[in-house]
Amino acid sequence: MPYTVPKLSDFSAPALDAAMRELLSALDQESAAVVSENDWKAFRDRWMARKNGILTQINDLWLKGAPGPSKRDVGQLVNALRLLVEDRVPKARGNFDTFEDVVGHPTLRGSVGEVIALKRKRTAMVASVDITLPGIRRPIGAEHPVIKTMNEIVGVFRNLGYSVEEGPEIETDYYNFEALNFPPNHPARDTQDTLFIAGQESKPLRDRLLLRTHTSPVQIHTMQKMKPPVRVVCPGKVHRNDALDATHSPIFHQVEGLAVDTNITFCDLKGTLDHAMKALFGSSVKTRFYPSFFPFTEPSADVQISCIFCDGKGVRDGAPCRNCKASGWIELLGCGMVDPNVYGFVDYDPARLSGFAFGMGVERIAILKYGVDDIELFFQGDVRFLEQFG
Ligand SMILES: [Zn+2]
Repeated sequence: MPYTVPKLSDFSAPALDAAMRELLSALDQESAAVVSENDWKAFRDRWMARKNGILTQINDLWLKGAPGPSKRDVGQLVNALRLLVEDRVPKARGNFDTFEDVVGHPTLRGSVGEVIALKRKRTAMVASVDITLPGIRRPIGAEHPVIKTMNEIVGVFRNLGYSVEEGPEIETDYYNFEALNFPPNHPARDTQDTLFIAGQESKPLRDRLLLRTHTSPVQIHTMQKMKPPVRVVCPGKVHRNDALDATHSPIFHQVEGLAVDTNITFCDLKGTLDHAMKALFGSSVKTRFYPSFFPFTEPSADVQISCIFCDGKGVRDGAPCRNCKASGWIELLGCGMVDPNVYGFVDYDPARLSGFAFGMGVERIAILKYGVDDIELFFQGDVRFLEQFG
């Protein structure tokens, strides 16, 4: 009796399983019986003909007839069977291709029967793939926490109308130090702090190549190619000659910002950074500015935010807060008004223009935002750590 698709009335898992097995066994037998082109065409039409092929029938009799709650299960079953049939039908051609090749071959003539038997066995093995096994899962990747934080910081400034500029990681001494008003023999140039490219002793100092120690050179590149007003943020990777430990890394990321225009004052700087810190850490965060020194800004300041762990109280759960060393404040970034000397390097008029610059470490902010206690975790590539941010 050739197989006919039964009309199902029972849609329970065992009943579906039995129906599926009966259909697969028919597919097996019929595909193994294909030994010529004509056989194959009939086999193909019986299973795949659009109008009344077996695939169309299971769709009509099983899926359309299934009651609401079983629809999803039956749908998955019908789809899986469709894939299997669509795979098996073309493969059945292999039966007679080989058959004819073998028959034509004088030394193999005696063993034609064996070859066909082997061929059928192999086809049957393909059919016994267990379609109820779970499929292959391909996990979707996620943004690295450092990149995620960097994009968040950049997003805050983009919303304020800043554009994004990037620059090379290998810089000359001129862009990394000299044009930023670092005097000759400034200790930052020391090889204890800066990674220089080897073998450049014959070059003048300003042309020597190094791995940039901050993203500030991008500010110089930007001012060289852009006339004021300038409002840019420069995200990127920077390098220092530091050994890796819980709080230091030879590679880290910075976002620096620069605004140059007429009449820009320290108030604009304070307002901008206060807004940015609230956007990053929540509207209850307070900021304060402490005098500091950077060669390329004057005056310069360090910015502290009220401790997000103890709400600026310095005490948490009755004990001194460890995160702010009980001070209630956390130091987060450096900033200042652009030193007029810097304008001299880029042909800006210091009498007419003023501006501010700021820079922050992305890892430092990510550590605070996500409560990570060791900077090394960001660079070890351990999926167990990273997937927590997915
Ligand atoms: Zn605290």
